Amino acid sequence: MKKQAELFNGKAKTVYATDDPDKLILHFRNDTSAFDGEKIEQLDRKGMVNNRFNAFIMEKLEAAGVPTHHEKIISDEESLVKNLDMLPIECVVRNISTGSLCKRLGVEEGMDLNPPTFEFFLKNDELHDPMINDYHILSFKWATEDEIAQMKTLTFKVNDILTKLFRDAGMLLVDYKLEFGRYQGALLLGDEFTPDGCRLWDIETRKKLDKDRFRQGLGGVVEAYEEVAHRLGVKL
Ligand code: 5GP
Repeated sequence: MKKQAELFNGKAKTVYATDDPDKLILHFRNDTSAFDGEKIEQLDRKGMVNNRFNAFIMEKLEAAGVPTHHEKIISDEESLVKNLDMLPIECVVRNISTGSLCKRLGVEEGMDLNPPTFEFFLKNDELHDPMINDYHILSFKWATEDEIAQMKTLTFKVNDILTKLFRDAGMLLVDYKLEFGRYQGALLLGDEFTPDGCRLWDIETRKKLDKDRFRQGLGGVVEAYEEVAHRLGVKL
């Protein structure tokens, strides 16, 4: 598989074309950003840890029946993926109240949400990823009714699989963001699943083990990611 032109340089990943038009290379960089790119730092080893962590989770999801874009790791910081036509939508499930939910609704932090909530956001940095609903998605043709239903079903299926996986390793999956894309007539999970895009708390102490350590200046960011990987048995 030959790496070709850089197609997209995101805040933490760079996407490259390959000699196969159906495949892309994702490069997980050490760059760590928050607040729509206002705070950016280089954190040693983060690219490698996230690449391996993401592959581990994508393989677990695939094995449990969630179709994903992941093909294989090809270097420390790179993975080969299917070339999806990404929907401009973020799907967020929350099992415990925190983050933007508490700011937006004025609800208490740390409440168990039963049932978990589901939210759609529009991927648009300039607008700070505004929250949208099914009707916006249909009116602006960002996805079809069937794709909306699939995004909800798959995002909750991921919740069932990963809540258990993390709980068995002593962690609470507080919330997470997923992105989907079209590939040969199907909807597949794309982007990444890493501690950059989810919240994970220690089950006993509720210590934060995710990107909130960076957002809130708590330090020990990569060390926390490595601890999560270690607890799950991800080989680094
Ligand atoms: P919140 O809406 O509370 O800021 O985020 C909810 C969850 O989705 C968190 O786990 C957060 O990490 C993730 N999330 C939401 N938007 C983004 C985003 O634009 N980038 C990343 N990496 N994660 C996001």
